[in-house]
Amino acid sequence: MGTNKKSILDLAKNRVVLFDGGMGSTIVSLGLPEGECPESWNLTHSEAIAKIHRKNLEAGADIIETNTFGANRLRLASFGYESRVEEINARAVQIAKKVCPEDRFVAGDVGPCGVFLKPVGKSSIDELEESFLEQAKALARAQVDLFSIETMYDLREAVAAIKAVRTVSDLPVFASMTFDKKSKGYLTMMGNTVSECAAELEKAGADVVGANCTLGSDGMIGLAEELRKGTDLPIIIQPNAGKPKLNEGKPFYSQDSESFAEDMKIIAEAGANFVGGCCGTTHEFTRAIHQRLFG
Ligand SMILES: [Zn+2]
Repeated sequence: MGTNKKSILDLAKNRVVLFDGGMGSTIVSLGLPEGECPESWNLTHSEAIAKIHRKNLEAGADIIETNTFGANRLRLASFGYESRVEEINARAVQIAKKVCPEDRFVAGDVGPCGVFLKPVGKSSIDELEESFLEQAKALARAQVDLFSIETMYDLREAVAAIKAVRTVSDLPVFASMTFDKKSKGYLTMMGNTVSECAAELEKAGADVVGANCTLGSDGMIGLAEELRKGTDLPIIIQPNAGKPKLNEGKPFYSQDSESFAEDMKIIAEAGANFVGGCCGTTHEFTRAIHQRLFG
C-alpha cells in the first residue's frame, strides 16, 4: 500500500504543490438542483465530474480531489443515499483515476458529517468516527493516493476523521480546518486557534495541516503566516474566491482569478507547501496560480 506515499510529500520538499479548484461550487454552477446531493453526480453525471478533473489537470493541478466531500453515511442520509456509501466513493475515485496521469495524484476528499457534536448537537464522537471509517475504507479500497480531510469546523471531528483514516491506511493525510477572522484572531467556529488545531491534528496523525474555505485569498495571508509559525509540518492553504454574495438566494463568488493567484504567490512565499482553491474557484484559478508560481 502507498507507493506514492513518499513522492507527494517529497515533491513538496522541492516546490509548491498545486491542488485543484472547488468541486461543490463548480457542480452547483453546472446546474446541480437545490437540495440535490452533489455526490450523486458520481452516479448520474460521471462525465461532468471527469471534465472538471480534466480541466484542472490541464490547468496544471498536481492533485485532484474526488467528488466525495459529503460522501459519509451521516451526510448522505439526509439525501436518502445512506446505503450507497461504498458505491458513491468507489465511483468518485474511479472517475478521478481514469483521467489522472501517472505523475499526478488523486486525493480522497473527506468533509464534515454535517451534524453537531454534543452538547451543541446530538451526535457522539463515536458515531462520527464510524461514519468516517466507512468512507475511509471505501476510498482506500478504491486506491486513492492520499486523503484530504477539509473544511472541518470542529477540531474533535477533524481528529475523528484522521483517526478513521489512520485505522485503514498509511497513505499521506492532509487535514484542513476552516477559520474565520475574529477580533481575537483566526478561530474555528468552535473557538480553536490556529496553533491549537495544528498541534492536535499532528498528534492525531496528519502529515500536512492547513486551512480552507470561509475566507478569501487576502484573508488567508495572515492565517498562512500564523500557521507557518505554529507547526513544523508542511501546510496547505485553499481559500474561497472571496466572501460569498447572494444572487437570488444562491451564493456566488466574485473574486477574479488573477488577484487570487497574486495572493496565493504571497501565501506560498509565507511558507505554504500546498496551495489550491475552495468555493468559487475553478480550473481558471488553478491555471492562474500555476502561471503565477511556475511562469
Ligand atoms: Zn469552500
